[in-house]
Amino acid sequence: MEEIVKVHGWVRSIRQLGNICFIVLWNWNQKIQLTIKRKEVPVELWKLIDELTPESVIVAEGRKAEKKIAKDVDLEIFPSQIVLLSKACTPLPLDPSERVPALLPTRLDNRPLDLRNERRHAIFKIYAALIYAFEEWLRKNGFIRVYTPSIIGAPSESGAAVFPVKYFDRTVYLRQDPQLHRQLTIIAGFERLYDIGPSWRAEKSHTTRHLCEYTVCAVEQAFIEDEIDVEKTEENLVKYALRKVKQKHSKELELLGVDIEIPRGSIPELRFPEIYEILKKFNKHIPYGESYDDESERMLGEYVKKEYDSDLFFVNRFPYKDKPFYVMKAEPPWARSVDLLYKGLEISSGGQREHRYEVLMKQIKEKGLDPKNLEWYTKFFKYGAPPHGGFAIGIERMLMKMLNLKNIREAILFPRDPERALP
Ligand code: ATP
Ligand code: MG
Repeated sequence: MEEIVKVHGWVRSIRQLGNICFIVLWNWNQKIQLTIKRKEVPVELWKLIDELTPESVIVAEGRKAEKKIAKDVDLEIFPSQIVLLSKACTPLPLDPSERVPALLPTRLDNRPLDLRNERRHAIFKIYAALIYAFEEWLRKNGFIRVYTPSIIGAPSESGAAVFPVKYFDRTVYLRQDPQLHRQLTIIAGFERLYDIGPSWRAEKSHTTRHLCEYTVCAVEQAFIEDEIDVEKTEENLVKYALRKVKQKHSKELELLGVDIEIPRGSIPELRFPEIYEILKKFNKHIPYGESYDDESERMLGEYVKKEYDSDLFFVNRFPYKDKPFYVMKAEPPWARSVDLLYKGLEISSGGQREHRYEVLMKQIKEKGLDPKNLEWYTKFFKYGAPPHGGFAIGIERMLMKMLNLKNIREAILFPRDPERALP
């Protein structure tokens, strides 16, 4: 029995060969071939073909081919009706099919068109799946989703630059991390929480791994023994998410030519100061007590891959002097600060926070900060703060590494960087 179907999408190509015309229609689920034979369709339909331009939006209705002949399409139909919903101007600023490749700046200038293809869609389907999997694991494990403010009344002193915002007659700032409010929510008695949302950095970094606006999955938990409990949470969370993405999106991963490797055992942990010895093997000499640079991250990534066959590893015990006032110290000069690295790039930072009021105040003075500016936050540590810790995973960073994207701008729909705030 013949089946009549109605399809919609963007006209990807039009090929007319005498009295037969093939139109390839693209939408986010399918590629459809419309085969139109002049003799078999009303005159108006044949005339409409002349009006169609690439990337116009149409709806078509017709008989579904019983046996598909065209190879790289999902569906083939013989339309009896086509409605042109929106005609695309010519020439296009960019070819969404990528047959004519464009440079990244051109692509980003024309991002809605650039995104209109299955490879780009694959990235953002995986982006959504990653967050979905994070949430799934967190909920299953007793974490509650919270929404902390993006607007903060005072810069949060973590070292990174903040964007000032006009707020009636005064200046406030966009958060650079939901960190401090996450901690206050812990003090409010929410023992396991996560906040997925935007963060901003007013840094003029022109790298392939920095954005001015990005998203973090930030997790915080109370009543920990030490930072190792936080590592365990992060390890289980990340492994679960990678497994889920791999299971659910094999088609998209194949399209992107990506194979996700999930560490079979536990995620290895490297520590300062042993890290200095490892780096020496790569001819990288870092003075005792100093932090490393991004070249070191890549070297450590190589080392871990070779020694442990893992793409992921933790680095623990960073030098305290390079960390914000709120981290908990380990034996000097180290801190209970933990990064997670993926293929040689930091994708998250966290660790155990200082919860003892007196120690916190001492650390603020040590760092040369004005306690008055932080009183809005520190004063609550006087009224019962449990030991706690957490981490913030940069979603775009993780996605970039997971999918082997060369530039973090590929991992976000509309990147914001020092030059770009449009479209
Ligand atoms: P980096 O040293 O790589 O610039 P950071 O240590 O300053 O990063 P954190 O403050 O630790 O960054 O932020 C937590 C996580 O948020 C990072 O591990 C990273 O995944 C992500 N992140 C931080 N800054 C940016 C940025 N500018 N663009 C994209 N992601 C970022
Ligand atoms: Mg960091």
